Amino acid sequence: MDNTNLIKKYLIDILSIPSPTGYTGVVFKYITNELDKLGIEYKFGNKGALVATIQGSESDDGITFSAHVDTLGAMVKEVKGNGRVAIALIGGYMMHSVEGENCIIHTRDKKQYEGTLQTIKPSIHIHGQEAKDLVRECKNYEIVIDEEVFSKDDVKKLGIDVGDIVSFDTRTKVTESGFIKSRYLDDKASVASILYVLNYIVENNITPKKTINFFFSNYEEVGHGSSAFIPKNTKEFIAVDMGCPGENQNSTEYDVCICTKDSNGPYDYDLTNRLIEICKKNNISYKLDIYPNYGSDAAAALKSGMDASFSLIGPGVFASHGYERTHMKSIIETIRLIINYISK
Ligand SMILES: [Zn+2]
Repeated sequence: MDNTNLIKKYLIDILSIPSPTGYTGVVFKYITNELDKLGIEYKFGNKGALVATIQGSESDDGITFSAHVDTLGAMVKEVKGNGRVAIALIGGYMMHSVEGENCIIHTRDKKQYEGTLQTIKPSIHIHGQEAKDLVRECKNYEIVIDEEVFSKDDVKKLGIDVGDIVSFDTRTKVTESGFIKSRYLDDKASVASILYVLNYIVENNITPKKTINFFFSNYEEVGHGSSAFIPKNTKEFIAVDMGCPGENQNSTEYDVCICTKDSNGPYDYDLTNRLIEICKKNNISYKLDIYPNYGSDAAAALKSGMDASFSLIGPGVFASHGYERTHMKSIIETIRLIINYISK
């Protein structure tokens, strides 16, 4: 497996398509277009999640891998009298991480308007100390639209209304040294990994013994992504989502991270052991870790009644839900673990 350019292409393509939770239609078009090219069968659930399936040669028992295409974002909460727009958050941002960020308002009739998220006291020359002391909470922010609008009516005339989706600039950057810096590596680094795995399966004519499902989840950031439409044959559910490197953590940006416990409790002991075994056997560089403020799509599936063993693996993403960073090594080790696990 040495095709890092293809991995990067998938990653950059997917990162360039805005997909806040509730607005994932365009990114799904990209994914189904790739699945069509590869000749892989897939179907959509009523809630919009997508499952791609590779039939097993010996058993219909399924291993289901999930990754989520939805990201953090925002929604227009109020068109204000000053011609600016207040927002409500989609998912868990730290407000300072999007302060001063460029954004796009997506209207329901498919127009797009650019703007910038600013605080309501954005200039040091006007607001002085107040600008610094302002509490960084959502109600103290507004979008300054890049149009000549001065009143609520001006904004309404553009077609902007309450409930319109707001996406933030990802500022995606790939460095010479192999780092990827971008918003929404959670979980688009995993989505790109899975697209690469699908490509690898087709290119190398791999027929796994067990049926492999790839579940592309679309409501993960709000907690119920995989609560429905999990394939009935699922015996093992492996969420592919970001690991958390940082202070007091064992995860890194260079290994595949395997989570042993998160906010919802321990992951399946035996399945975790099987994944570790595959890593050891194939010299895949891995790290075990515990995540203190984390809930994955595995928990959503379990809480909806799924009866399967479950685990969580993925690339290590630094500064999650902020301006994130990972390294290609972490993505490659994640891909190697998935490929080796399904080829066993
Ligand atoms: Zn995630």
